[in-house]
Amino acid sequence: MRLVVIGGVAAGLSAAARARRLNPSLDILVLEKGATISYSACGLPYFLSGEVKRQDDLIVHTPEYFQTERNIQVRTGVEAVAIEHAKREVALASGERIKYDRLVIATGAHPDLSKVHGSDAPHVFSLHTFEDAGRIAQFLARQKPTTAAVIGAGYIGLEAAEALRANGLRVRVIDAKADVLGRDDAALTKQVRQHLEKFAVPLQCGVQVADAASLPEQMVLLATGLKPNVELATAAGVKIGRTGALEVTDRMETNLGTVFAAGDCAEAMHRVSERPVYVPLGTTANKMGRVAGANSVGIRERFAGIVGASIVRVCGLGIGLTGFSVAQAKREGFDPVSAHIEAKDRAAYFDGRVTRVELVADRRTRRLLGAAITGEQGVAGRVNVAATALAAAMTLDQFLDLDLAYAPPYAPVWDPLLVAGQQLMRVLDA
Ligand code: FAD
Repeated sequence: MRLVVIGGVAAGLSAAARARRLNPSLDILVLEKGATISYSACGLPYFLSGEVKRQDDLIVHTPEYFQTERNIQVRTGVEAVAIEHAKREVALASGERIKYDRLVIATGAHPDLSKVHGSDAPHVFSLHTFEDAGRIAQFLARQKPTTAAVIGAGYIGLEAAEALRANGLRVRVIDAKADVLGRDDAALTKQVRQHLEKFAVPLQCGVQVADAASLPEQMVLLATGLKPNVELATAAGVKIGRTGALEVTDRMETNLGTVFAAGDCAEAMHRVSERPVYVPLGTTANKMGRVAGANSVGIRERFAGIVGASIVRVCGLGIGLTGFSVAQAKREGFDPVSAHIEAKDRAAYFDGRVTRVELVADRRTRRLLGAAITGEQGVAGRVNVAATALAAAMTLDQFLDLDLAYAPPYAPVWDPLLVAGQQLMRVLDA
């Protein structure tokens, strides 16, 4: 039996590795159209900032590793151009045809450049692939630009802005929407704006750029969102869901049965709204890939879904998000109330710094719906506690019963999460 995987990064290689672990005799072939496989796209901004010294340090494994250590064949520089499911064949751009018994589609996503012109100008870049980061690094080294505009205040735009600032450029960030990080949260946007001002990085929200090449900056980085790579799959009859990404079951199965999809090309179930969403993240891609790999060899595993947990560093400010903001929760049909607090993230006498915690809960059920945590320290731990509470469908009352750790170098005796929870309780009970 042969498993063919299309896409050789997070989801595709997780699928291949899991399938191999569960079935030592399976023939596994991974097709990747790019030159580089198994790299950390998440690390690309830190290569640009200089925190990661060598770009190759972001490569986790080579095709040779997969061949010799895992008995998985990986072919790079080969593009799948059609799937003929009736014949169980993948057609490559070269004309070659490859037979499969099971297929995992892990084709990822591409930057959405549909709303802005000028993306092909020599000083306009996207930051999506290993090669993109190489091109940007080369431009920085050779052209030595002193100014940059980043279009898009999602997490990639904000991380890129920090990286360019670290290279000494004067940077401004522009976004067509009113808020950052796609969160619909005016208070968070205000905080990010004020923080960026300290680094002389203006944040201009609500500004639509029609032509990136017409901006006065010497370099422009487009981070205007992602679109799932679905064309190959849909041409073969795979259904897309309400989000525009591939529709999958919790076993990562598409409507074609023996064809699975995982990662940035697929949608995921949100555990709070219980609706499919499109939140393309590496953490999700790895988990989906693992589940697709297991099910492709007949082992029933399920992907439980997501709670939209994410974290980003913006000029030293950590921003941890999970679930929904008030505005998003309203759109999802909840009756949300929220409260926020500012508190020290550890004992004041132990270099405690201000952290801000906002919690959102449903008025009727008292279930926690979301959290936004910002600060310089401890953000990852706190957002993960909140994400766990969301995944466990905890009410605020249950959340307040949590036994959270305390020691002066790490946290204050009343963790800021619990302080925010108590504040929210007052609002709920008012
Ligand atoms: P991809 O990584 O996009 O891989 C898909 C692969 O499929 C590509 O290599 C592509 O060339 C190949 N392919 C597509 N079509 C074909 C075809 N027809 N034939 C052959 N090959 C094909 N996520 C986090 O959780 N945390 C972070 O901090 C984070 N930071 C990020 C920072 C940056 C700058 C970027 C770009 C992404 C970041 N992400 C982060 C997101 C994360 O990297 C992605 O969610 C993850 O890489 C998705 O994995 P994937 O395998 O689904 O898709």
